[in-house]
Amino acid sequence: MILPNITQNYVNDDHQSNIIMEMIDTLAKSHIISQGVCEYLLDHISMRELPYLMMKARELTDQIYGKEIFFRGLIEITNVCSQGCYYCGLQSGNNLVNRYRMSETAILSTVEEGYQLGFRSFVWQGGEDAGLTDEWLCSLIRKFRADYPDCVVTLSIGERSRASYQALYDSGLDRCLLRHESASKSLYEKLHPQWMSFDHRMQCLQDLKDIGYWVGAGFLINPPFQKNADLVEDLMFIQRFQPHMCGIGPFIPHPDTKFRDEEAGYGNQTAVMLALVRLIVPEVLLPATTALATVDALGRSKGLNSGGNVVMPNLTAPDIRKLYEIYAQKKNWGDEAAENVKRAIRDIEELGYIPALTRGDHISYKEK
Ligand code: SAH
Repeated sequence: MILPNITQNYVNDDHQSNIIMEMIDTLAKSHIISQGVCEYLLDHISMRELPYLMMKARELTDQIYGKEIFFRGLIEITNVCSQGCYYCGLQSGNNLVNRYRMSETAILSTVEEGYQLGFRSFVWQGGEDAGLTDEWLCSLIRKFRADYPDCVVTLSIGERSRASYQALYDSGLDRCLLRHESASKSLYEKLHPQWMSFDHRMQCLQDLKDIGYWVGAGFLINPPFQKNADLVEDLMFIQRFQPHMCGIGPFIPHPDTKFRDEEAGYGNQTAVMLALVRLIVPEVLLPATTALATVDALGRSKGLNSGGNVVMPNLTAPDIRKLYEIYAQKKNWGDEAAENVKRAIRDIEELGYIPALTRGDHISYKEK
């Protein structure tokens, strides 16, 4: 098991604890971590240092973004997928899934519903659906930009060609999320079928950056076979790549996949990784993910208190949403969009933060 100290409530003695606190202090000042320190931290951090690490990450977030938590309205536009990620319930080999693709009208009316509730930032997420042609997407993006000039959309629909990303960019899209899933090639290959390519996914991230997108990477916590050494690779990659956003969530087994009996990731493990990513890339937009809230009753507060500053309430219509099952028992604030946002706002306020239903721009962002 990874980070066993963290998950088993183990605490270090004074000497060990001081070494780790000093490493955290140095990282919080320099925002640079060496592979050696990274390995040491992940192998030795205990529950005794976790609150300090989280506090340092939150302090830094407050300095840059204040107490505001950016809201993005999630719309799950398709569950059709041609990929075969072993952990995901939507993988193409899962015949038990009832597949759907939202129409342009359905997507834009969900945006309208979100707009009325106050959202100005949306995420359109989906499987890797060959039915989403460039032509169709470009036209949708142009309509969205024309109808909602004060809003932004982030697309999260998997790997595409550079030409396709360029066409979408030219039609007005400027934000994409594509988690790298694992920066360790050997682990990536254990989590995906042979026909999926680690190098291609990494190339996509580079292409997005080169085109000029605002790019989100990200990785899973505790999928099968993951060791601390793999997480070290994730952190070193994040340090090199400097993404604008980083989605980090615990793996959660889905009953219709071969990983059904595997252990889910833990809240505290996820908190360690969120806080470290915040300290390494201070300006990163960091979601407190739904997966974290699903595995840990205190997940939302752990996410925000570790430097998280984004949440993504689900706006997808309830009847469609239940068909978008990437993992089991996905935790929502509520079924209906309106209920969802009301509860999310209340939750965030109760935790001492300020819900921000704005464009939620990266601190460096300028209108293109
Ligand atoms: N098709 C898109 C979006 C995938 S869904 C893409 O490939 O980028 C968004 C994220 O959900 C994935 O990147 C993955 O990290 C996460 N995910 C998938 N299955 C999961 C599971 N069983 N547990 C936790 N997270 C999962």
